[in-house]
Amino acid sequence: MRLEHKNIIFCDFDGTITVQETFSTMLMEMLPDKARQVLEQIYAGKSTLAQGVRMLVESLPSSAYGDIIDFCQGKEIRPGFVEFLDFLDQHQTPFVLVSGGLHVMVQAILGPLTKRLAGIYSLSLDLNGPFMKVLADFEEGDELLAKARVMQMYNYRNSIAIGDGVTDLNMGLAAQTVFARASLAKYFRSNQLDYIPFEDFFEIRDHLSQMWSK
Ligand SMILES: [Mg+2]
Repeated sequence: MRLEHKNIIFCDFDGTITVQETFSTMLMEMLPDKARQVLEQIYAGKSTLAQGVRMLVESLPSSAYGDIIDFCQGKEIRPGFVEFLDFLDQHQTPFVLVSGGLHVMVQAILGPLTKRLAGIYSLSLDLNGPFMKVLADFEEGDELLAKARVMQMYNYRNSIAIGDGVTDLNMGLAAQTVFARASLAKYFRSNQLDYIPFEDFFEIRDHLSQMWSK
């Protein structure tokens, strides 16, 4: 029997922990023409987002690995993230990061903070060939990283999802409490689903602090 957590956090990375989208911006900067082409294919319904992402990453030579790390330098984290982790420690609540982006980018941007997370699920890279290869352990259907499937690996009473994009949708729908911004908030709002809007992690901390003190 796996340990049952009273509460658990499942949180997206890009645009949620980071202020800006880092993964898509990196792809646009390193592969401008190809990225435009792939975006058109996605909009036209000729390929899925997952296929598009794989196509783009796999057009990067393995030798560009260092450039990805360089790109991550100085990328901003949303205010209150460290204080939020402190708060979760006090409440013995695990924080699980689920990102459809690259593990190397999560590691380069969060640095030693990654050691404070209960789990990190993201895309790994195989650099043994001339071009990068995406290793997606949780690929399912149209999703390169099925976040709701990661949630199923944990045992808990209440889950809290934090996200900003359409790829956080299934994670949000599977969670008891949802903190959303940007496209994810828009989707929840237009479908009359409950969510809590947020702009930084102080707001999330304060909201949970109230919720858990009841
Ligand atoms: Mg995101």
